[in-house]
Amino acid sequence: MSLVKDSSYYIRLENNFGAANYEPLPVVLDRGERIYLYDVEGKRYFDFLSAYSAVNQGHCHPEIVRTLIEQSQKLTLTSRAFYNSKLGEYEEYLTNLLGYQRLLPMNTGVEAAETSVKLCRKWGYKVKGIPENKAKILFASGNFWGRSIGAISASTDPLSTTGFGPFVPGFEIIPFNDLNALKLALQDKNVAGFMVEPIQGEAGIIVPNEGYLAECKRLCNEAGALLILDEVQTGLGRTGKLLAGDYENVKPDILVLGKALSGGILPVSGILSRDEVMLTIRPGEHGSTYGGNPLACAVAKRAVQVLIEEKMPENSFQMGEVFRKRMNLLKSKYEDAIEAVRGKGLLNAIQFKEKNGKSAAKEVCNQLLKLGLLAKTTHDHTIRFAPPLVIQSDEMNFACDIIDEAVRFCLD
Ligand SMILES: *Cc1c(COP(=O)(O)O)cnc(C)c1O
Repeated sequence: MSLVKDSSYYIRLENNFGAANYEPLPVVLDRGERIYLYDVEGKRYFDFLSAYSAVNQGHCHPEIVRTLIEQSQKLTLTSRAFYNSKLGEYEEYLTNLLGYQRLLPMNTGVEAAETSVKLCRKWGYKVKGIPENKAKILFASGNFWGRSIGAISASTDPLSTTGFGPFVPGFEIIPFNDLNALKLALQDKNVAGFMVEPIQGEAGIIVPNEGYLAECKRLCNEAGALLILDEVQTGLGRTGKLLAGDYENVKPDILVLGKALSGGILPVSGILSRDEVMLTIRPGEHGSTYGGNPLACAVAKRAVQVLIEEKMPENSFQMGEVFRKRMNLLKSKYEDAIEAVRGKGLLNAIQFKEKNGKSAAKEVCNQLLKLGLLAKTTHDHTIRFAPPLVIQSDEMNFACDIIDEAVRFCLD
């Protein structure tokens, strides 16, 4: 048997030797550049997922790759048992840029979010004076902050939780976009904080009412609880501002970042806060072997610089307007099948209507794949559209033509 290394060969390998925790679309990617991905047969695709918004800066951004190569030849990992020559400058850069006093570096988004929960509890005991082991953290229904036991203990998605119990106590769920529910929950003096996404990503790009975040901040402040904004997906230009909280001038007590922090090169995450909160965790009480490693710090600093130098948040804002205008036109043509077009900047979704428990979303994704555009459903009826933030207007219009054609093919 001759061994042809085509798509089906690689798909077979993953299916035979990998765990079954994902169900990828049948395309095998081999190369990426800016907003494009290429499969092993050389076919080009628009990337409208951006690795769940980790590749905001575009695939293999030459400046970030150059930094990766240079730093990887010099020093990659020391552990935090010692100081290194990259961490401090990175911390100074990011805290100054975002207006915080301190940064705690981690690797993946879920670790950063979990760190924010631990920090919030610690602050609750040491500063707020919550009795031992009584701290409560509030979360919004539909939240997603990863797959650890901590994260799924806050989840309301049965797919994330079923068969994985028992769960972490001290977590309370309130409805998303419901200020009365928050107000009520905050009456409990043992509530240390409220973690929320400015726009819920995995839940299907759910945009709360205008003013929701600002009011969350005010209510938490008033109740003496911390507001934790999980900007792992919405942050770093994705929604058309550097941070999604910027739309309402909301600066949370703890900011959680991940995904695009390295431009899709390495897992880099972190949380930012002020002295009063951050310094409640003392030496030896929390950490990570790879957290704050010099390679990650050099790459992350350059990845954020590039984002700002190339005005990616601004471009995201403008291209988002173009995208939603085109998609709303499409919606007006297919009112029976399209429920909603929503999003901010380049974090957008089309929600399809369900007929007999089925919607066109999956079929549209498969058609998009054939036509050369990669996008994925969140839940059964919604497709997320989130290209790298470097997309230009002619490219956006061409991509919208493809989406038009795929929807027409599936719905006509
Ligand atoms: C993806 C995501 C996370 C988890 O990030 P990982 O790097 O996958 O652990 C946390 N919060 C939000 C809002 C996310 O979208």
